[in-house]
Amino acid sequence: MRNYESLSDELVYDVCEKFIRYNLSTKDIADEVKDPEKHKISREEVYAIVREGLRRKFVLLFAPVERELADRISDKFALNAITNIEHASATASAPFMSVVPSRGRSVMESVATEAATLTIKLIREIAEHKKKESRDKKAVRVHVAFAAGASSKICATTLAAMCRTQADLPPLALHAISSGFDITDTSTAPATFFQSFEGIREDIQTYALYSAPFVRVEEYKAKRESTSIAKAVRAAEEVDIVVTGFASATDEHGELRRYIHEYAQEIVIRERKEKGTAARSAEDIAQAYLDKLHEARWTGDCQRHPFNDDGPLMEGTDVDLPFKAMGLFELPQLAELAKQTAKAVVVVCSPCIHCNLTRKTALQSLLQFPKKARLFSHLVMDIGTAEDLLGIERTAKTEIAAADGSKEKEKKTQKPATKRTGKKRPA
Ligand SMILES: [Zn+2]
Repeated sequence: MRNYESLSDELVYDVCEKFIRYNLSTKDIADEVKDPEKHKISREEVYAIVREGLRRKFVLLFAPVERELADRISDKFALNAITNIEHASATASAPFMSVVPSRGRSVMESVATEAATLTIKLIREIAEHKKKESRDKKAVRVHVAFAAGASSKICATTLAAMCRTQADLPPLALHAISSGFDITDTSTAPATFFQSFEGIREDIQTYALYSAPFVRVEEYKAKRESTSIAKAVRAAEEVDIVVTGFASATDEHGELRRYIHEYAQEIVIRERKEKGTAARSAEDIAQAYLDKLHEARWTGDCQRHPFNDDGPLMEGTDVDLPFKAMGLFELPQLAELAKQTAKAVVVVCSPCIHCNLTRKTALQSLLQFPKKARLFSHLVMDIGTAEDLLGIERTAKTEIAAADGSKEKEKKTQKPATKRTGKKRPA
């Protein structure tokens, strides 16, 4: 069995181009292309190499957007949202919203790819805006900050792939909003996303954030003023675009919920070490903190900071937690960014990658926040979440489309957007 990951970029791209762009048969491709050891590749291997091209993001699949649902969500939550062009002029009071008609296994990939496409457009539009304001047009740089998490990671790596082919993009600065969370999984730490930009552009600046993911509330201010964090926070004043996801309070994979359990376990380990026994079990300690959050009507968390239907829950005041997430922004600062024209907070929403739970309740809160506290200027979500928000069953949705006499619309919502077109190749 061939190790496809070890094949050169050149070979993988060549096979993808022959297969997709030039529509050659697998036989013709197998006859023409040889691996580095001059061995022939088989016809079956052509498919595997095209899949490898997808993995390397040489081939990107863009799902079409579903405008009708975005309009209906905008009406339901009185968002005054833009669902067509005008990306850069969108702000928290008239946000841009996009619904991606993707379901199943590839939903997070499709939503994050749409977010990356939007981010590229925002980078261009914001650069133009900055050039108008700036004397030194060559010095214009667009700053993009990424939160931790799986969808943010896909968005960053897709953006890197797009940068490879779009040489006319303005210089970029990339900021990590927080440090990693899980010491056994470094892949979702924002600073690691920057590796995908290596070797693509010489002029990319990067700003990591080195900190514990959570710190004690009473130490928060002093830690924030410590040298390395203070430098990152100061650099963040330049940030133009924030890309972030959020977690649902009920999802066990949310980082705030996971941290509460880890924190409780540490208390028990420490007590056992110091006194030989622990007064309470880790479960009881964790539950006590979760109860405090539930008393504050916690529905979700963004960048590890909790919120409810009315807005952010400030740790130590709105909710009695002894710890607080350390990152570039607190939620009120995100809301400030989202309000400004030619700045953007892109919130990405798809079901949890681990348990497939939709983030409907948490998203409902984000949509209900008072306008001045709204965290996003741009929102990208999957169709399943959009239907959940509107209380549409999938079958009911089909009926609506059929009643409209719109067979095309029906087809679009039923089928994944990843279908390949092109003439049938001989087997
Ligand atoms: Zn989950």
